[in-house]
Amino acid sequence: MSVRVRDRSAELGARAVGITPGGVHSNVRLAGPGVFFERGEGAWLFDADGNDYVDYLLGQGPNFLGHAPAVVNNAVAGAARRGSVFGAQHSLENEAGELFLDSVGWAERVRFGVTGTEVDQAALRLARAATGRSKFVRFEGTYHGWLDNMLVTTVDGVTGPASAGQLAHHLDDTYFLPYNDIAALSATLAERDDVAAVIAEPVMCNSGAIVPRDGYLQQVRQLCDRHGVVLIFDEVITGFRLALGGAAERFGVTPDLGVYGKAMAGGWPVAALAGKAELMDMFAGGVNHSGTFNSSVPACAAVTAALTALREDPPYKRVEDHGAKLMAGIRELGASHGVPVRVQGLPMAFHVSFGDPDQVWDYAGMARLDQVRYARFAEVLVDHGVWVAPRGIWYVSAAHSERELEVVLQRFEAALG
Ligand code: PLP
Repeated sequence: MSVRVRDRSAELGARAVGITPGGVHSNVRLAGPGVFFERGEGAWLFDADGNDYVDYLLGQGPNFLGHAPAVVNNAVAGAARRGSVFGAQHSLENEAGELFLDSVGWAERVRFGVTGTEVDQAALRLARAATGRSKFVRFEGTYHGWLDNMLVTTVDGVTGPASAGQLAHHLDDTYFLPYNDIAALSATLAERDDVAAVIAEPVMCNSGAIVPRDGYLQQVRQLCDRHGVVLIFDEVITGFRLALGGAAERFGVTPDLGVYGKAMAGGWPVAALAGKAELMDMFAGGVNHSGTFNSSVPACAAVTAALTALREDPPYKRVEDHGAKLMAGIRELGASHGVPVRVQGLPMAFHVSFGDPDQVWDYAGMARLDQVRYARFAEVLVDHGVWVAPRGIWYVSAAHSERELEVVLQRFEAALG
């Protein structure tokens, strides 16, 4: 099987470093193999050299309906003819908002934003305002955006700032706990009376697609209730992907606030904060949340079209079947080639690595995996026409079919060599 040649990408990359730092507009992409894409269609990407790639990264998650879904893009194009932002309301907001709330199921109010990063901040502000407390609990290995109070790295079990220029005191308001350890959360909430919120990625897709143990989220919910703490689910990845109602629906646990992004708008930049009315209505009573581009006309059209598509032809069973077959296929290829490939997570968002085949339940367990080896292998996969991230996450879209399954497994086997 031919390995991709990317001369044109290399030329574009050389030019880009003189334009934008490192040649990329998001630091996450510094770790990538420097491919310049021309276009995406369904489950496929096409680069500047004319190579094709079967895509299991989905633009870091948003393209849950596949690339360039006509139903969404036509709606966006049509809506954009009416304008973009007016510094006031427009009728599409109500349509998108009602559809959103009805889809999420448990939430009574929604505020649209643009990125998950900023909406996570809005959730924290609201929790602090509601409780009059300052601190929050989060879990080691989660990602809640790139801002000073959220960006972290854990080295030798110690969590701290992840960027030069990020002052350590911005993390002073955070208690970092291991995920899936209810005793640790119970002890922290019993000892402290200053915790405003617990924020969780219900499935830790930013490290190892770590799923909650049976009953864990229910216990987290109970502890938050007992201590008057606001429970925030960061559903930026899980929302509309694990189910129409996201992780809350899948695991049967209702948070007080939910943060959404990525899959909710067919690839367009929209995020949302949703929650109980008594909390959310504080935004109209002293708590500030603003944004020039919030609820733009094209954004609301994208949300409406994407959610309508997800409701009218729910792809969840197809996505789950495809992902389950792919996870099994990758495991079989590893076994038949004598390579310790390890696959964990849910079929719509799973993690591939090398090393210890046991289930990993928290971030510390990730140390048992050979992620460096996988990152190198991911580059080989890209060279063989499978677009995946070096950090091991694989996303399945509604556009992936049996054909892509066949292709990806052939290419995966070729990459194993
Ligand atoms: N929360 C989670 C769980 C995420 O995975 C991400 C991004 O990957 C964010 C928040 C930040 O979202 P954005 O990149 O849209 O700012």
